[in-house]
Amino acid sequence: MSERTLIAGAGIGGLATALALARQGARVTVFEARDQPGEAGAGLQLSANAVKALRFLGLEEAVAARATRPEAVELRLPGSGRLVSRVALGKTHETRFGAPYFHIHRADLYEVLAEAADAHAGIQVMTGARVVKVAHGKGAVAVELEGGATTDGDLLIGADGVRSTVREGVAGKDEPVFTGMVAWRACVPIEPGDQPPQVATVWMGRGRHLVTYPLTHRGVMNLIGVVEKSDWREESWSAEGAADEMRAEFGGWHKSVDMWLSRLETPLRWALYERHPLSVWSAGRVALMGDACHAMPPFLAQGAAMALEDAVVLARRIAAMPDDLTRALREYGEARHERTAKVQAASWANAWRFHLESGVLRFCVYGALGLASRVAPGQPGRMFDWIYGYDPAA
Ligand SMILES: Cc1cc2nc3c(=O)[nH]c(=O)nc-3n(C[C@H](O)[C@H](O)[C@H](O)COP(=O)(O)OP(=O)(O)OC[C@H]3O[C@@H](n4cnc5c(N)ncnc54)[C@H](O)[C@@H]3O)c2cc1C
Repeated sequence: MSERTLIAGAGIGGLATALALARQGARVTVFEARDQPGEAGAGLQLSANAVKALRFLGLEEAVAARATRPEAVELRLPGSGRLVSRVALGKTHETRFGAPYFHIHRADLYEVLAEAADAHAGIQVMTGARVVKVAHGKGAVAVELEGGATTDGDLLIGADGVRSTVREGVAGKDEPVFTGMVAWRACVPIEPGDQPPQVATVWMGRGRHLVTYPLTHRGVMNLIGVVEKSDWREESWSAEGAADEMRAEFGGWHKSVDMWLSRLETPLRWALYERHPLSVWSAGRVALMGDACHAMPPFLAQGAAMALEDAVVLARRIAAMPDDLTRALREYGEARHERTAKVQAASWANAWRFHLESGVLRFCVYGALGLASRVAPGQPGRMFDWIYGYDPAA
């Protein structure tokens, strides 16, 4: 296979797609709008399905070297700190699903992908190159960049994020949808003597939740808070929110939470947008992947995982039918849309679970979760086996 592939966007999804295709012999050009692409200062959870995609790319070890392996995820109540439910990760996750569960700093994952792309002779990443139009050229597809230059290729992959430009050519004109939620992000230093447990803790408040987990490789605690808020729609990875505002949202929840919040400097804040699921992911030789296609709320920590899976499935479809790229792209979408839509719906269900307002509902739902946890400790979390057990390379 030696087709010329154009990719719009060098995020996690675009770089993973470039690597998946290049390892099969494709020549790939990635156009990245930003002059200095990278990832914001925050953590990312990578479950077994995502790690299996990284394994396909030959990057599992490099990622593992920078990742933390959490022992469990715990659901807790603010105030009392009461443990509602605990899902074992660590060895349990690895044995059950065939790959480990990682916590990693986004910048570290990005660096692994970017270094691998850099080292591959078949991949060229052009920065400061914003795709503004899918144009007609001598090849099967062409893109027009800001400034007017055009480039031809045999196929084009839109990996250009939730505000995708490529999407319009596949899905028509539609806009990202505001979820009514705002996310806060921060990494604060772990100090000598802190010894935080190697778990992800989900603190479930009313209309809001906070997730905390250590990123040992970086010596920081990662904090992600999500608050239902309809009056703040600025979508940015880097809008700096005042530390006091974040403290006001989550302060007083627990002494450990207060300790981390006291070390905040400049948390990042942005509004959460999503894309409604698409059933058709390609038009001719143009296809979508990652957030450009299925941006979802982060309550299951699966957005990047889905992008990594997309990359592998896409490359494998193309390898299976190199003489009919239009069909390969169509079949890739057919293989992916149901799963990603189901993950998106499951993510919303978690939002409901994490943000319950009514005292009666909290008592019933968290009581039932707690009871299930005590009666059958191995069961909580099994409802997501279909997510983690999936292997995009199988
Ligand atoms: C609070 C929060 C927590 C999350 N936690 C997790 C988690 O724990 N685990 C997980 O799996 N996922 C998580 N996610 C989801 C994950 O971050 C995203 O799904 C993932 O980063 C999407 O990657 P992408 O490459 O598709 O898009 P992006 O990361 O948005 O990359 C798109 C790239 O395209 C570039 N671009 C945009 N327009 C153009 C253009 N016209 N031309 C050229 N380039 C362009 C952009 O500059 C960018 O570099 C979380 C998301 C949020 C908001």
